[in-house]
Amino acid sequence: MAPTGGPSAAARCAESAAGAASPEPTILDVIDRRMCVGCGACSVRTGGAISVQIGRYGYYEADASGVGRDALAAAARTCPFADESPDEDQVSGEVFGEELPRDPRIGRYRGTYAGRLTDEDDIYRSSSGGLTSWFLAQLLERGEVDRVVHVGPTSGGPRLFEYRTAETPDELLNSRKSAYYSTTFASVVAELRGDGKTYALVGVPCFVQAMRLLMREDEVLAAQFGCLVGIVCGHMKASGFAESLAWQEGIAPDDLERVDFRIKDPGASAKRYRFGAWGAGSTRPATELPGRLVGGQWGHASFQLNACNFCDDVYAESADVVFGDAWIPRYEADPRGTNVVVTRTEAAERILWSGAEHGKVHLEPVTTEELAQAQAGNFRHRRDGLAVRLADDVADGKWVPRKRVAPGYRVPRRRVRLVRERRKLSELSFELFERAKAAGDLNVYLEPMRPLVRKHDRLSRPITQRLRGRLKGEAWRLVRRARRALAR
Ligand SMILES: Cc1cc2nc3c(=O)[nH]c(=O)nc-3n(C[C@H](O)[C@H](O)[C@H](O)COP(=O)(O)OP(=O)(O)OC[C@H]3O[C@@H](n4cnc5c(N)ncnc54)[C@H](O)[C@@H]3O)c2cc1C
Ligand code: SF4
Ligand code: SF4
Repeated sequence: MAPTGGPSAAARCAESAAGAASPEPTILDVIDRRMCVGCGACSVRTGGAISVQIGRYGYYEADASGVGRDALAAAARTCPFADESPDEDQVSGEVFGEELPRDPRIGRYRGTYAGRLTDEDDIYRSSSGGLTSWFLAQLLERGEVDRVVHVGPTSGGPRLFEYRTAETPDELLNSRKSAYYSTTFASVVAELRGDGKTYALVGVPCFVQAMRLLMREDEVLAAQFGCLVGIVCGHMKASGFAESLAWQEGIAPDDLERVDFRIKDPGASAKRYRFGAWGAGSTRPATELPGRLVGGQWGHASFQLNACNFCDDVYAESADVVFGDAWIPRYEADPRGTNVVVTRTEAAERILWSGAEHGKVHLEPVTTEELAQAQAGNFRHRRDGLAVRLADDVADGKWVPRKRVAPGYRVPRRRVRLVRERRKLSELSFELFERAKAAGDLNVYLEPMRPLVRKHDRLSRPITQRLRGRLKGEAWRLVRRARRALAR
């Protein structure tokens, strides 16, 4: 993929060396290496001098061309991927206090729960347990903040989802559900800055961290933002994800008007949600299980932003409260969906427990171990996988951001191959889909993707499944008997 932004990091290094200046702010490396997630913090910090726009591959990216060194240095302190900004451990320590218990996977925590809305109809309008939008609505109802900065579907226009503000619980509750779709808060936050109102913001972990970093640097925003709500994140998707799934359901990108990434099925487990797409003028969606569509399985990481290859924050460690999916067997079976919840402030605890006392919310304690189990795949990708990707890039002589995970190959060789295969699959999905759109032929994307997906799936299959595929009948029974005998 072609790098975007200004001159290459190597070229700038040479310039710096020639002028004997201090090293360039690493935000330029973040942009050069396409590790920008498009949050927009740098743009807000520089009053728009750094712009954030949709790039060639359908996700927001910063453009810092022509921006002076002082502005770059200020922006770097607000960029979650730049080395000049403090990491989540430091920021959460400053905000919530070092004395709060800390788990290396979850971050700091006060309460750890699983829960959901009790209203049987209402919960089907949310992605998971419905607590994220309920909590945000509570902030408005209780007058804790004047408005909420959230993500919802657009009402026309080239993008399907956007950041915007809601002033009433109804406005907020009318646009629930997860948007696996690149957005930016750049213009919304720039507009609200200094307007005399107070706000809450909901975001994936890097966006929450970016907002905290902005608040550290900008006292106007610090005074305005009363609560940051996180949602657990596996990775972010470019627009090609929605478009490629919809196209496989018969709706070409130019006709696509709306998508719902998570339509629940009352007769199936929470994991068997469907992807729905509406073409121009259609009133009913075309739907399918995403796993049956090429690139639809989360683990394939199709259209994953490259930034997510360099992220180690799963539980939005800088957020006051974070909600995710309880992917634990005892909750998965329930089609309504169940949230995992981590609170880090007393205020968040009060709101949740008041909901439980009034019968609006079902809440039960879970252990940090269960929270980690609920995101096991996420941790494999974002901790073990991250170590491999960092080690690969360091070996290639590339700049990598400072992370809380050390580069290294601590996983079996097969897993290392899987990590590399996923990265390749992810990168190729962008190029292949761009070609398919240019040719007006979906097969230009699908045909080369299928063998990549098959190879990825072969590598990710556990050894027992692979053996079973090769051995038939009696031979497999002998293997099972031997394993049982060894386990005794
Ligand atoms: C890109 C992405 C990846 C995710 N990956 C995982 C994962 O790996 N594991 C996991 O457990 N959970 C993941 N989630 C979170 C999960 O999909 C649910 O959003 C979460 O469990 C909340 O469900 P809910 O029913 O409480 O929310 P709802 O009641 O449906 O409300 C959702 C709220 O989230 C906000 N929102 C939706 N999309 C975005 C967005 N892109 N950016 C900011 N705010 C948004 C909406 O404005 C709304 O307020 C991911 C979410 C996103 C957006
Ligand atoms: S990640 Fe955010 S702060 Fe960093 S360069 Fe991109 S838009 Fe700017
Ligand atoms: S995986 Fe990390 S970098 Fe990617 S969107 Fe989620 S929080 Fe941000």
